[in-house]
Amino acid sequence: MNETDVVIIGAGHNGLTCAAYLAMAGLPVKVVERRTMVGGAAVTEEFHPGFSNSVAAYTVSLLNPQIVADLKLADHGLRIVERRAQNFLPAPDGSYLLTGEGRTGPSVAALSARDAGRIGAFSRELETIADVLRQFVLRAPPNIVEGFGLGAIQQTFNALGTANLLRRLSLEQQRGLLDLFTRSAGEMLDERFENDLVKALFGFDAIVGNYASPYAAGSAYVMLHHAFGEVNGKKGVWGHAIGGMGAITQAMARAARGHGAEIETGAGVREVIVEAGRAAGVVLDNGKTIRARYVASGVNPKLLYTRLVPAGALAPEFLARIGNWRNGSGTFRMNVALTALPSFTALPGNGDHLTAGIILAPSLGYMDRAWLDARAHGWSREPVIEVLIPSTLDDSLCSPGQHVASLFCQHVAPALPDGKSWDDHREDVADLMIATVDRYAPGFGSSVIGRQILSPLDLERQFGLLGGDIFHGALTLNQLFSARPMLGHADYRGPLKGLYHCGSGAHPGGGVTGAPGHNAARAILRDHRALFG
Ligand SMILES: Cc1cc2nc3c(=O)[nH]c(=O)nc-3n(C[C@H](O)[C@H](O)[C@H](O)COP(=O)(O)OP(=O)(O)OC[C@H]3O[C@@H](n4cnc5c(N)ncnc54)[C@H](O)[C@@H]3O)c2cc1C
Repeated sequence: MNETDVVIIGAGHNGLTCAAYLAMAGLPVKVVERRTMVGGAAVTEEFHPGFSNSVAAYTVSLLNPQIVADLKLADHGLRIVERRAQNFLPAPDGSYLLTGEGRTGPSVAALSARDAGRIGAFSRELETIADVLRQFVLRAPPNIVEGFGLGAIQQTFNALGTANLLRRLSLEQQRGLLDLFTRSAGEMLDERFENDLVKALFGFDAIVGNYASPYAAGSAYVMLHHAFGEVNGKKGVWGHAIGGMGAITQAMARAARGHGAEIETGAGVREVIVEAGRAAGVVLDNGKTIRARYVASGVNPKLLYTRLVPAGALAPEFLARIGNWRNGSGTFRMNVALTALPSFTALPGNGDHLTAGIILAPSLGYMDRAWLDARAHGWSREPVIEVLIPSTLDDSLCSPGQHVASLFCQHVAPALPDGKSWDDHREDVADLMIATVDRYAPGFGSSVIGRQILSPLDLERQFGLLGGDIFHGALTLNQLFSARPMLGHADYRGPLKGLYHCGSGAHPGGGVTGAPGHNAARAILRDHRALFG
């Protein structure tokens, strides 16, 4: 006897999205979450008495508007606001770049007339390609299947549909697409621009969650991945969820529960039950068994297959390949409680720039050196940091006059060299991050009265993000699209019947999008209808 039709492992935003769609379609669903709260990497917590913030993910753009509408997230309390300026990049020489509606052109012109003449064309090129790729977000990529059966025919049609979408790009734009999938962001930006801050603006997106130099082949795709989004209908814009990222997942949980889904927290899965080659439910850490017709996994695919599915149930080739799934973003995340807003040497005092994503990485060369240093030393001694101060847009996070900031720090090694542990170095590295911000905004360090630190090891322990990988697996060409998580399994179906992938390890990958959860729900519903009409 099944206790439910679907059991979903993990109440991350994708597990919740999947649950909501399945419950909406009338299937009994149960979500089981290891932590004591829902949301996965998209949560808000009080990290210091009186100070709350988004703990891991901290800014919204990629969240799919169709999912927001279908799940009626606004009715469930979600409100997303735009930043008043998009990005602020101060340089040590006192110059700066400030972007956003009506700001980018004049700010770039003050740095380079040549770049001011070129940035519009480059942004449009990215936008046009992002527009086409957006259409792939809520559909399964063509899956590679062996043989000539019904599955092969279906996939041929899917591939034709894909080709049709791509045909909307001119040949020149398709060449641009190929460049963006395969080349380094650094090379492409050096070809177009001369000013370091202008290149750094785009280059930063190429290394977010990507433990690589901006000159590494494939980094241009990561830049494109961050251009897919929109806020309140404005493409490419980043914003803030009032109440922090947890507001998104709380709204999703309300939507799922509203349609009848059950969500149990403090319920880690120890093992997926496999019977006669089919996933038949899960065993929880407390020994409780939940039997189900379908199992959907919202956790990193390597975690699923190397820790939760019994090894004997998988083909050795599959197990060997997933064992080589590349994890590790090289990110270090901090939240700080502040008694005052920072004042940047390059643009002192308060202003809209303090609502922006403040990027401390003034050139591509700086980012490249940061990566090389992290490779040799374990962390970069001149790190790349994005500072975001959400309390400038949201007064629900702390008391008036006080502030909270997210520090998203790039280029630390997922695992430290020479057997060193992150547990022995997290405080030193946190000090370094604060000192780095202080160099651009003197006095910042003394305004910090509380801090929360998440090293790659902490991200793995707290959220199950292996190697601290924020995307459940690197966004490299061999782990994208039809190859996510593996050729032959891009249709959200795992190698065992009844087992599905609904997390960021499936297409279109990481970020708070909801898309893998939506697409997996569709695959489950299709299979269910094929069986039961
Ligand atoms: C530090 C950081 C910063 C980021 N910044 C941004 C950002 O600003 N904007 C953005 O769009 N994206 C950002 N991301 C990426 C984004 O947050 C993730 O890609 C996304 O939240 C992943 O969602 P998910 O539902 O696929 O998986 P997760 O959120 O990882 O959810 C998986 C869930 O499974 C649970 N779980 C694990 N093991 C088990 C088990 N054995 N049994 C039961 N449950 C289990 C976990 O506890 C977790 O709740 C960031 C991520 C991190 C870590």
